[in-house]
Amino acid sequence: MGFSALIRIAKRLSSSSSSSSLFSSSASSNGLNTMRGAVFWETNKPLTMENFQIPRPKANEILIKTKACGVCHSDLHVMKGEIPFHNPCVVGHEITGEILQHGPQTDSKIIRRFPIGSRVVGAFIMPCGNCHYCSKGHDDLCEDFFAYNRAKGTLYDGETRLFLQDSGRPVFMYSMGGLAEMCVVPAHGLTILPESLPYTESAILGCAVFTAYGAMAHAAEVRPGDSVAVIGMGGVGSSCLQIARAFGASDIIAVDVQDEKLQKAKTFGATHTVNAMKEDAVDKIREITGGKGVDIAVEALGKPQTFLQCFKSVKDGGKAVMIGLAQAGAFGEVDINHLVRRKIKVIGSYGGRAREDLPKLVRLAETGVFNLKDAVSKVYKFEDVGKAYEELNKGAIVGRAVIEIM
Ligand SMILES: [Zn+2]
Ligand SMILES: [Zn+2]
Repeated sequence: MGFSALIRIAKRLSSSSSSSSLFSSSASSNGLNTMRGAVFWETNKPLTMENFQIPRPKANEILIKTKACGVCHSDLHVMKGEIPFHNPCVVGHEITGEILQHGPQTDSKIIRRFPIGSRVVGAFIMPCGNCHYCSKGHDDLCEDFFAYNRAKGTLYDGETRLFLQDSGRPVFMYSMGGLAEMCVVPAHGLTILPESLPYTESAILGCAVFTAYGAMAHAAEVRPGDSVAVIGMGGVGSSCLQIARAFGASDIIAVDVQDEKLQKAKTFGATHTVNAMKEDAVDKIREITGGKGVDIAVEALGKPQTFLQCFKSVKDGGKAVMIGLAQAGAFGEVDINHLVRRKIKVIGSYGGRAREDLPKLVRLAETGVFNLKDAVSKVYKFEDVGKAYEELNKGAIVGRAVIEIM
């Protein structure tokens, strides 16, 4: 697609000393009255680096100086037009950063929990905290997140926080719009990042690890001794291996079509690997499990063919957990009689529950139970953001890539 070849770097405004009137001293710490963000304009057009007005958080929202943002297939789906989203927008939804400012009238408990200057990590599902689902703790189903952010590209008052510097044109936000030097995040989508965890590697906690945790903890409900197969060794799939290992799974089977990714899977806890180009994945999974199939199979690609493989790989009474987003309108097939007679559960899972899960993920990373360092295979500079997505599109990234923003 040539995102990188064509990327234009807009000239950064050099008015570095005229920021004082724009907002309070705490938030002007970059010394500028503008910030850069990577804008997606339309399908198959390159991202361009644009100058934005400094975003202003509203009540119970927090302005963050973005330190790093992960490179995820969901962004690529948007950029390729496979998942419809409002344009122009800033994608990027897997961030770490430093707190610059609280929105006016923010709850005092939020301010105490997240003081200015704190290090934080953000979840891509940013719960409103008050809707029907959030009030039951089901942050992953937050009504406002889906109704406003995913459907309209805004935060929960129906407005974006991103405006181009010169024209004032509004730009939509995919989650918090992480591919920018600053972003606004609803406070419930954040948790504190301890000093011991680096900004760059920790960015992946907010989507890859978060999605894997949600799938394993809430959808699959993995128990010690369960056998688990994971189809698709991208950032999310390989994180599923580490979470399955942390939950005490016995056989952990990694399925992919690239030997390099399968080799790496072993370092994340895979006890067996299957190259689906060279052998039949379902047959092989049955063979490894003594003919029965696995307790839990996870599909992390979002393709009809692997959806079916996932369904066929589970044992009677087992769970097929679908976490890969497909092209809009794609359908997955199942054998109805097999599903009915053998009590197969097909479960969808989009992510984790920010308030409950994100602090636990941070602890798993802090204690080394989840190895962040090995999970991040490539680090790009902000200027190379186009190249990062181009390489992701080519399947050239093993594990997860992260963009360092500042
Ligand atoms: Zn993602
Ligand atoms: Zn909600």
